[in-house]
Amino acid sequence: MPFHKEMKHVAYYMGKAAHGGDLLEEITALCTARGITLGRVEALGALKKAHLGYYDQDAREYRFLEINKPLEIAILVGNVSVKDGKPFVHAHVTLSDREHRAYGGHLGPGCEVFACEFVLQAFDGPQLTRVFDQQTGLPLWDEG
Ligand code: ZN
Repeated sequence: MPFHKEMKHVAYYMGKAAHGGDLLEEITALCTARGITLGRVEALGALKKAHLGYYDQDAREYRFLEINKPLEIAILVGNVSVKDGKPFVHAHVTLSDREHRAYGGHLGPGCEVFACEFVLQAFDGPQLTRVFDQQTGLPLWDEG
């Protein structure tokens, strides 16, 4: 059975990210303001530009791609947990360009919002804390 913890649903927050804002910062700021340290997020909308990560498993580091053009957010999905004592948003996105070609990856800082509607779901339950994982080199949830 995979590692897991049981959560209770507490609340939904629906809103829109600020035009020109940094999408990851916008979601993180809401979590911080509302004291949300456990949850999930989904969103759709459009970006002015994007900065997406791909984790190179051999090099054990993120490679970032900057896409400097308008893009649709076809889907963003992510979770909220704790890293370094603060709410930490981990999200992945699928974006599409004017030719409807898709880009995907780890949501990095530097994704500038054109328009974005989100749903943030807050949970109550045992904390999930990110710690350095030797096997992957990633900050994964502590199983302790
Ligand atoms: Zn990721």
